[in-house]
Formats: sequence, structure tokens, C-alpha cells
Amino acid sequence: MNREPTLDVRPPSQTIAFAAPLLGDEEFAASDTVLRSGWIASGPNVIALEKELSAYFGNRPTRVLTSETAALEVALQLLGIGSGDEVLIGAQTFFSSGNMVEKVGAKSVFVDVDLKSRNIDLADATRRLTSRTRAIIPTHYAGLACDMDALYAFARQHNVRVIEDAALAVGSSWRGKAIGSFGDIALFSFHPNKNITTIEGGALVCNDVADAKRVEVLRFHGISRLPDQTRDVDFPGGKFNMPDVNAAIGRAQLKKLDRFSARRRQLAHRYLANLGGVLPDELLPHRGHAGDEAGHSWNLFAIRLPLERIRATRPQIMESLRARMIATSVSYESPHLTTLFRSQGWKPGDLPNTELIANTTLTLPLHAGLSEADVDYVSAALASVLKEVDFR
Ligand SMILES: *Cc1c(COP(=O)(O)O)cnc(C)c1O
Repeated sequence: MNREPTLDVRPPSQTIAFAAPLLGDEEFAASDTVLRSGWIASGPNVIALEKELSAYFGNRPTRVLTSETAALEVALQLLGIGSGDEVLIGAQTFFSSGNMVEKVGAKSVFVDVDLKSRNIDLADATRRLTSRTRAIIPTHYAGLACDMDALYAFARQHNVRVIEDAALAVGSSWRGKAIGSFGDIALFSFHPNKNITTIEGGALVCNDVADAKRVEVLRFHGISRLPDQTRDVDFPGGKFNMPDVNAAIGRAQLKKLDRFSARRRQLAHRYLANLGGVLPDELLPHRGHAGDEAGHSWNLFAIRLPLERIRATRPQIMESLRARMIATSVSYESPHLTTLFRSQGWKPGDLPNTELIANTTLTLPLHAGLSEADVDYVSAALASVLKEVDFR
């Protein structure tokens, strides 16, 4: 272990971000055109983006919103989930899942994950089922699809709805089929750290046109139009419609998605090759499903640190990398151990794999704008930092 990779170690001229959007002339021109058009709130570009996303997702009904978090709130409302209901949540995820389940008045039931894939452990989900369980929210961690056959077999067997948190899986697939192109409800994020961006934004993909129409109502004040040209409200809806400027940027980004995904995969595989001699395999991220590695869209490259074998804490390692012009991040903390959920009785030890990952994970820079030299530089810097703290 800790054989130092012999790599190009050119120090960068500015800090290498752990995530960054890649915008070009197409996005600048598209937003300029919309800004000058006089119609900058939801308009023709929203409709066009929804059509283009729908085509990407196997012609399933698709609606865009101001964020995935908004889409999640709307999805829970669409399914009528609220007080008295329980929702299973794969715990290797962002805070938004638990937050939105609480916000609609339901109970969040966190489920542990597999240590290597970091995706939901369906055996643990089975143990946490009750007669009140209405839905399951699995996250496709880092862009690696959950085992979709097992997930949907579970949903059918236990009669629960699936809301896929596909924030990290824009461009991912399972056995050649795009995530979002099959299944129940899938939610995507277009935050700047995701594989394509609308600045802020998200999408909801479902199976029924009637559900998509209901999403339009729920995302805009609960308003529906009456035949006499007046409006009615039958639900206290939110205000989650995407502006046309954002949609125009998203349309330009969507055209680049396949190229971005291929680039991310190349860079991730370069990291794996570089770091193979630095960290033991169990601390490196999952490469992708056997025979289907191209299905991994690599939003994140998250290693685990061998903290019990080195003389340093994670903040110290992050600081050493920061001093070498490398930004890193923690994705994610244990959602069940936030103040919010500790107050409901969740405690350390409840989800051992999730907690081990949360305590040791470190996200290295990965985005479509990185060069091979950047990846080599980060790999060499990590090896040297670990060597300094006696990792061998
Ligand atoms: C980014 C992210 C979200 C939230 O997406 P927003 O569009 O910022 O609301 C939710 N879940 C996961 C796993 C994410 O990475």
C-alpha cells in the first residue's frame, strides 16, 4: 500500500473544485436570447425542456420544477402521503429526503446501505416495513444505479410506491436503460454540482399523464383553471415553476449530457487506476455493475479514509489537501443523526454502514471540466498526504 503513483504533479494555478458546472457559449447565448425575449418566467423553454427530457426518459411524462427538493415535496403530495404514513429512506443521501417527508407530516424511516455500493440495503428495508409504510426513497448513490430488479420486486411484493432520488444519476442507466426511463417516480436535480445544470432546478418523471397534470397544479399554488376563465384552488400548493432562462440553459446542457457522462467516467476510471496502489479496494468507490460499467454516470468520486490506521482526522486531511489547492467535500453526513432526527430517537449505532461511511467518506474533485493532469495531481497529492500521516 501507499506506493506513490509516479504522476505529473504540476500544482494548479487555482484551487481544483470538487464539483463545478461546465457552461459554454451555447448556454450563454440561450440565456441571453430568453432575457431579451420579454418572457423570462415559465414559458416555451420550459415546455420544450420537458419534451426533450421526456424523450430522454423513454417518453415518460416529465415536469420540471425549481429543485429536486421541490419535486420531492410535490411527489409526496401527489401520492397523498402525510400524517400516519411512513416512508423508507436510503440513508446514504442528502438531507432533503427526510426534510420533505417530515414537511408533509409523514414519518421518516431511515434504511442502512451496502458498504461498497452505498445504495439501499433492501434486507434492512424489509426489517423496517410496517403496515403504515407507503413509499420507499432509494438514492442512486454517486450515479451508480440501485439494483432495479431487486428494488421493484421489493416494491411489488410489499405494495409500496417508489420515489427514486436520482439527483446524482442524471445520465445513469441500469442494464442499458436510462434511469428515469422505467420504474415508478424518478426525481432529478439540476443543481450546479450535478451532471447537468439549470442553475437550480429539478425534474419529476412519472407514468401517467394525469399525474403529470396534477404536478403542474401542485407546483403552482394548487391552481386549476375553471371553464369561465377564473381560477380555483383545491390544495395549498407551492410555487415551484422553473423560469424560462433556467430551462433554456438546461436544454443546452441536455445536448451535452452524454459527452459529460463519458468524460466523468474516463476521469473516474483514471482515479481508480491511480489510487489502486494507494488505498485498499474496499475504500475505493464501486466501479459500476459488472458488465455494465457504462451505466455509472459518476456524479461523485467518494473514497473512504483509513482513519483508524493514520495519525490524522478527516478535517486535517481536508486541510492538507486544501493547502495543495484541492477542494474536497463530505457527501454525506448521516441524516438520521441530525438534531432533527435525534430528537425523534435516532441514535449512533442504528445504521452501522451509513455511519461508518459518513465518518470516513471524502469526496475528491470530479467534474467534466477536469483534465487528466488534474486527476493525476489530486491522486499524487492524496498519496503524499496519506504518507505524511504514516499510512502504509
Ligand atoms: C442534490 C441532491 C438533492 C437535492 O437536489 P436540489 O435540486 O438541490 O433540491 C437531493 N438528493 C440528493 C442525493 C442530492 O445529491
